Amino acid sequence: MKKKRLSVEEYVKGVLNGDRVTLSRAITLIESTLSNDKKMAEKVMESILPFSGKSIRIGVTGVPGVGKSTFIENFGKLLVDMGYKLAVLAIDPSSQKTHGSILGDKTRMESLASDKRAYIRPSPAGGALGGVSAKTREAMILCEAAGFNVVLIETVGVGQSEIAVKGMVDFFLLLMLAGAGDELQGIKKGIIEMCDALVINKADGENIDAAKRAKREYSNALHLFQAKENGWFPKVMVCSSLKKTGLEEIWKMIEEYWLKMSQNGFFENNRQEQRANWMHEHIRYLLESRFYQDELIKEKIQHMLPDIKSGQQSSIAKARELVDLFMKTQSE
Ligand code: GDP
Repeated sequence: MKKKRLSVEEYVKGVLNGDRVTLSRAITLIESTLSNDKKMAEKVMESILPFSGKSIRIGVTGVPGVGKSTFIENFGKLLVDMGYKLAVLAIDPSSQKTHGSILGDKTRMESLASDKRAYIRPSPAGGALGGVSAKTREAMILCEAAGFNVVLIETVGVGQSEIAVKGMVDFFLLLMLAGAGDELQGIKKGIIEMCDALVINKADGENIDAAKRAKREYSNALHLFQAKENGWFPKVMVCSSLKKTGLEEIWKMIEEYWLKMSQNGFFENNRQEQRANWMHEHIRYLLESRFYQDELIKEKIQHMLPDIKSGQQSSIAKARELVDLFMKTQSE
């Protein structure tokens, strides 16, 4: 049976009442690419925006296999047991429909997924990073308006998506493994610099000593970086997501950060900067997608490419020519 379409007011009322079914439908609406849905989604977002923001937003990243979903499952359980309402979202532009999104696999975070105090939403499959991250941001705002006061955003630690997540969270946590070499495990130095805490996971069984050693090494290495502008020095911790050890300490550290940053003004300052950046980022995304969707531009690009590739035409000059042409078609 086809579901009855909801009105903007029904979406807003349902989300603000914390109705999970309406929340899920509202997120589906903001993910839709149909232009009518987009218009409606904008109205919904406008109405609920004043009710959002009352949460702590935490990014969790790390290479596949480091234990992100195990961590989120047990850390999340700890949070809901403490009385928090938890939403878990993901950024994964690499996932295609056929592969499923990183949170899409039903076997992941099974107990958290069935817990009424938590809400788990897989990332939209595929798509450009700009689009996926804009949708994740809006989903986050919807979750907050629905009363969730801790938002965890998961991403795979392999590239651009960290920067997108960093741009939408208050606290950024990098999960790592001990004994995988001090080459920082293929994770770029830039990501280390972005994080507020580095957590060595799987500190259990025979791995405990190696994890403690790694903690010392990383602590020493981090001292080579400068303290952040907000006065926070990134912390290095160990935990076992599987055995549920070290998780409470991680939450205490995040609480300490939350308190300090609220007191020194950086919490709000960071959010203000993020809102401004989202606008600029979305302008770039919209301009780029409109440009590449334009039929005339598509055709021109196809036509020019062989000469660009062979070096007979200048990439720079042709890029300018195409943008000028696009601007002209827009003003007609
Ligand atoms: P993800 O790909 O980063 O989400 O990693 P998963 O959470 O799926 O974990 C990958 C594997 O590592 C699974 O087999 C987990 O059971 C295991 N694992 C995760 N956390 C721990 C931990 O703290 N200790 C141990 N021993 N294994 C863990």
